[in-house]
This record gives sequence, C-alpha cells and structure tokens, in this order.
Amino acid sequence: MGDAPLLSDVLPDGPPLYLEPRLAPLAAALLEGGAFLHALVDALGSPLNVVLPDQIAENAERFRAVYRRHSLGGRIFFAHKTNRSSALLRRLAATGPGVGVDVASLGELQHALGAGFGPDRIVATGPKDPDFLWLAVLTGVTVNADGAEELDRAAALVRDHGLPRVRVLLRLSDFETGTGVRRLSRRSRFGTPTAALARLLDTAERYRDQLEPVGVAYHLDTTSPDEKATALAGCLRAMEELQKRGFGPRVIDIGGGFGVGYLAHADQWERYTSALTDAVMGRRPPLTWGGHGYGLHAENGTLRGSLGLYPAHREVTGAAYLDELLSRPAPGLDRPLGTLLLESLHDLYTEPGRALADQCGLSLARVLEVRRTDAGETFVRLAMNAGDVSLEDHGVLMDPVLLPRDPTPADTRGPVGVHLMGNLCLEADLITRRTVFLPRLPRPGDLLAFANTAGYCMDFGATRAQQQPVARKVAVHRADDGSWHWCLDEQYWPHTPPGGPQA
Ligand SMILES: *Cc1c(COP(=O)(O)O)cnc(C)c1O
Repeated sequence: MGDAPLLSDVLPDGPPLYLEPRLAPLAAALLEGGAFLHALVDALGSPLNVVLPDQIAENAERFRAVYRRHSLGGRIFFAHKTNRSSALLRRLAATGPGVGVDVASLGELQHALGAGFGPDRIVATGPKDPDFLWLAVLTGVTVNADGAEELDRAAALVRDHGLPRVRVLLRLSDFETGTGVRRLSRRSRFGTPTAALARLLDTAERYRDQLEPVGVAYHLDTTSPDEKATALAGCLRAMEELQKRGFGPRVIDIGGGFGVGYLAHADQWERYTSALTDAVMGRRPPLTWGGHGYGLHAENGTLRGSLGLYPAHREVTGAAYLDELLSRPAPGLDRPLGTLLLESLHDLYTEPGRALADQCGLSLARVLEVRRTDAGETFVRLAMNAGDVSLEDHGVLMDPVLLPRDPTPADTRGPVGVHLMGNLCLEADLITRRTVFLPRLPRPGDLLAFANTAGYCMDFGATRAQQQPVARKVAVHRADDGSWHWCLDEQYWPHTPPGGPQA
C-alpha cells in the first residue's frame, strides 16, 4: 500500500464531511473490540450481521417506562417486519406480558408463535392473504383489520369453522380535524378512511357473534407529531362511535413511527446538508457519485425539489417521542392526549419497529480492494452489496466505522473521501451514492462496520443476486465480566444466551 494517495490528492475540497453514527454504550463497546468482530467475519464470511438481543430488551423497557409515567395500560408490539432475527424476537418474548409483536405475514406469525408469544401478545396487521388470516383467526390473535372486506373474510372463517369470536381492531386512515374540513394526516393506502367509519361499523354490527371490535388503530409513516396528535384525537372520537353502537371498545393502537436518531452530531448533519445543497447548485464539487442530489436539483440557478432523506439527526425519538406525543394537548382541546386516554380508561397499543430495533445490530463488510482511478477518485470495493445494507434505500446517510485488520498501521495518512462499491457487476451497486469520508484510507482485509442497521437496513432487501452470499446473522451477548460471546441467530434462546445465563 505504499502508493496510497496523499491527503492533498483526495481531499482537494476542504475538510472531511463526516456523518458519524450515534452509538449506544453496548454497540460502542462492541466496535472497540475490533478483534472479536474480525474473528467473526473470518469464521462466518462477509457480509455478516450482528444483533444485540439485550439492547432490544432495554429499548422495550424504555417504552414501558413511558406507559408507567402516564399511568397507561396496554402493550408494546414490536413491528416484526423491521428485522427477521429470531434472537431479537425471542429476547422480547422473555421481557414479559407488556411486550408483544406485530406481524404482517404468515411467516412472521409462525415465527412469533414459535418464539414464545401467546396469541394475546400478537397483533396481525397489514392486508392479509387467506392463509395468514386463517392462522390468525384460528390461533386467536388480535386482527388489526385493514377494511370491511377483511372483516367479511374473518367472520366467514369463524362461522364456517365454529371458532371463538375474534378480537379485531379497526384500522383507520385519513383523519380530519374536529371541524371535518381540512384533511391533516397524509393519505395511506392502508386502513379505512375515517369518513367511512359509519359503514365499517355497519359491517361490524352484522358480525357480533363472530367478531369483537376491541378498538381502533392507525399507523402513519410520518415524523410529524402534529399529524399523529390529529390521528390520536380522531381515534378518541371513533371510540365514542363504537360505544354508541353498543360495542365495548378499550384499545387505541397508534402504530409505529417513533423514529431513530442515527447521527451523533447535529452540526455534522447541518454542515453536510448545506454542503450538499452547495454541490447541487454547482458552488462546490459534487459530494456524490454522478452528482446525485438526493431529491434536489438546480434549475436555472434555482434550487428545486426536496431532500428525500431520513432526518438522520433527531433529538427526540423512540420512547421519548411517545412521551412527548402523550404530553401534547389534544388538537382543539387543552388537555394532553395521555390524560384523555387515561380518563377514558383506554389501553394504549404501540407498534414501534425502527425505534425498538435502535442500536440492536450492525452490519460488517470486508474491504476487498482499494483503487484509485485516473480521474482521481478512490473506490473501495466491499464483500457486500447495496441490498445487504439498505441504508441508502431508506434514505439514511451515516458513515461506516473503519475497523483496521492491523490496529497500528505504519502509515496513517489521515482523512480520505471514497466511493463504496458493492460486489455485484452492476453500475448501480453502490453501497451509497455519497462520497464517504473516512479517517484514513482502508486497506484490503479491513472491516467497515455499518452501525445501527437492525431497523430495516440489515435484511429487508437482502437477496442472493449473482449468487453472492446473504449475510449470516449472529447474536452477541456481553457477559457480566465484559467478555463477548456469540451464537448463530437461530441458536439463541434467552434462558441460556451465549456465554451462559444472565446474572
Ligand atoms: C411498518 C409498520 C410499523 C413500524 O413502523 P416504524 O416506523 O418502524 O416504527 C408499525 N405498524 C405498522 C402497521 C406498520 O406497517
């Protein structure tokens, strides 16, 4: 590596624009022990996914604490689609009756039952294919119904097979303010628009012997607390409609979307996004492959479009976001939403996905090749492809952490800007279209660790394209003496985590 480029070659355009990941203590400690992670990749190959089951238990406890603070009953349902891991699910199953799982396919339902969740701790959400609905109805999980047609099909299964009544939640969408004029929440292709609630209740009334409507639900894919407050207030009104029809509803399910803060430093995020704007406007050299603007472009000297990125630096996320939502005054009323829930004696269901998986895993890739092009760019090719770490797909911009094979390299030349290439013969297979700044040039054999990938980025989009290996997944546990232990994800059970039972 004697011909490694000099700093002046690779950083002609000012200081590096780092986007350093926020790391919780457990993940930070794991990354500090680079030798352990190198040994894992040596044994199991690259890419490799690592999950931290103890972290998800800690995250669930933070959500439980918010329920306690607001004196609310109910349950937290982990949105399974976030991650396929068995270890995370089994660890959650062992946290107690206050935590359940939200499943959105037949496979996820089977997985949840097999991880030890009883039917009362499972909600089935999303549109349901016939076999998924059948197993949901047969096992008696709560069916979060996407619409009237699903009520028809669930009721028919109960009637035709002589099954017990099934608990259903009515998923609503398109919430309006109290005056009913302006639509405030974004449109969703899921759920029944609130304007059609009366007809949905007509349907529910026909099936009194088959279905028990226990409440209403929503899930809004937005970071806006205003929209969520509007939806929650809309649910409180909908509960009154159910009561008027003689049902005994007791649950409001406010879905997920509590968010994650990915970056450690707000100023890095601000500097990066304003530099990206400058680059799009041609005021500085491109910061991306091919001048990609992440939704922004210049038109006759004017900035157009909008940044299509996850707000990677966020102060209030996860359980704290829920706390803040419950503390907000209900739209049109002066009382906090949490108080209204408490006084109405409704149970609160939440379905956090990304927020429960926060800091629960990382994705490792080995550096295969470091190449300098004639055009003066530096390519770092990884034993991983864009599907293995779909940060980019989810609009999350965050630097990987460099874990050198040799922790004390002879020449440390300082920061570099590189392009991260995947292992597919596809022009589009860039791990990110962004120029990534690293504290020094990686070498073949080094590892790049992508932090905080357990939420959607780890396995949602993984494929076997070109017969490249799909990442194996391991569960890692830190023993009381600080030592690290691992097992394959499917081998993990909470009563005997790798390294021995919990103290
Ligand atoms: C995806 C999904 C969630 C989880 O959303 P997050 O943003 O990951 O918290 C919860 N509920 C439903 C119905 C979903 O589709």
